[in-house]
Amino acid sequence: MNANTDLCFLTIHEALASLRRGEVSSVELTQAVLDQILSVDNQVRAYISILPEEALAQAEAADQRRAEGQNGPLLGVPLAIKDVICTQGITTTCGSRILEDFVPPFDATAVARLRSAGAVFLGKTNTDEFAMGSSTEHSAFFTTANPWDVERVPGGSSGGSAAAVAAGTALGALGSDTGGSVRQPAAMCGIVGLKPTYGRVSRYGLVAHGSSLDQIGPLARDVEDAAILLSCVAGHDWRDSTSLDSPVPNYVAEMKAGDGLRGMKVGVPQEYFIEGMEAGVEAAVRAALDEMADLGADLVDVSLPHTEYCIPIYYLIATAEASSNLARYDGVRYGLRVNNPDMWQTYYDTRQSGFGPEVKRRIMLGTYALSAGYYDADYLKAQQARTLLRRDFTRVWEQVDVLACPVSPTVAFRIGQKIDDPLQMYLMDVFTVSLNLVGMCGISVPCGFSDNMPVGLQLVGPALGESVILRAAYAYEQATSWHAQWPVDSRQ
Ligand code: GLN
Repeated sequence: MNANTDLCFLTIHEALASLRRGEVSSVELTQAVLDQILSVDNQVRAYISILPEEALAQAEAADQRRAEGQNGPLLGVPLAIKDVICTQGITTTCGSRILEDFVPPFDATAVARLRSAGAVFLGKTNTDEFAMGSSTEHSAFFTTANPWDVERVPGGSSGGSAAAVAAGTALGALGSDTGGSVRQPAAMCGIVGLKPTYGRVSRYGLVAHGSSLDQIGPLARDVEDAAILLSCVAGHDWRDSTSLDSPVPNYVAEMKAGDGLRGMKVGVPQEYFIEGMEAGVEAAVRAALDEMADLGADLVDVSLPHTEYCIPIYYLIATAEASSNLARYDGVRYGLRVNNPDMWQTYYDTRQSGFGPEVKRRIMLGTYALSAGYYDADYLKAQQARTLLRRDFTRVWEQVDVLACPVSPTVAFRIGQKIDDPLQMYLMDVFTVSLNLVGMCGISVPCGFSDNMPVGLQLVGPALGESVILRAAYAYEQATSWHAQWPVDSRQ
């Protein structure tokens, strides 16, 4: 029981308004959230590490700065960071035994930017090992529970960040999205998650999974908060050679400008409403489409004909890139080392005991796809098909401003339900991986419930179309109340 739960469920913009008016201090706010962590995180298990002293010290410094008349876009706001994003001096495990004791000597650019915006860091959140998974069950440490029903997964791989925001144990969070890992857990936990355009947010300090797919993205209580967080972390960074050198708009202002959904052309890709998806999910998403039409959107049926190849393309490219990225964990440079007099045996033993089964599976799949004799048939074919997929999207942007579709074919499933069937788990990504393959942006917003669990609506935009998807999402959110509902147990 936490006396200050109301503070814990403030949105970031509400918290900032209260902080500015002096109604609450950052220390009070941070303490309330730490108390909430104490009261619910033993059940939810969103956090791998919790940093109460550090957070309170940062909160105190934030209050001090505010008292001196300084400001900052996130001054005094307590946030959580997914544990695949490097934090200086703070263990960054990637949910893996191999990095269990790894303490980065630097901050990821996104973290550094939040820091200079004045944010307070509460701790590091649970993730599938190296962000490989859709449920957090592949974390080497423990599985995070969904705050709406603790027998179910929170989604993944940023399940810890999503569960923290939904359980009132962080006001917002950063996650990473390689194939859906921000949008899908956001959908399953009833919050907002945004995957930016590839290159919009620096990947410097984000531990690599699939380098051509990875993006850091915000998880938040509402669309405005997602826009605030994105404004803080986006922008060019010379340390990431794929970072886009394009000005960062004021996303909050652009989101609120204009006519909302009125006159917006919203494409509905027929391939994203497939047989086998949960009826309740389809119903909620279709109702959201109707709502958007009522708000003046012009719904247009569109086709992305190569959609059926998304999962195979993604699981060839992501595993190929992962197998190469994970070659660096050799017991010499980072983390765990299992010593053996024989050098090769040191490598083998370190990797054998440091990596979990899903990571090993992916290293084997990826190495296979890249090996001589299979490269042309697998990896090269996947890259060619990826180009066809990109053309599908380019064609669609000639007709519409955004696309609207589900985030995930089902709501959060039960813990253990899919863990022994990797293919079933991979199929959970059927609506999300395409955006990573083509580098475009997408946002998940709550749009209803199925089986008493939250459903997410996905709005997709072209490269650097963040303002457009935010505007559409904001207009939809303003007209509905799904985002204002929270899991009952966490509020007690
Ligand atoms: N679920 C997908 C996978 O397992 C996506 C993961 C992610 O986005 N990090 O690869």
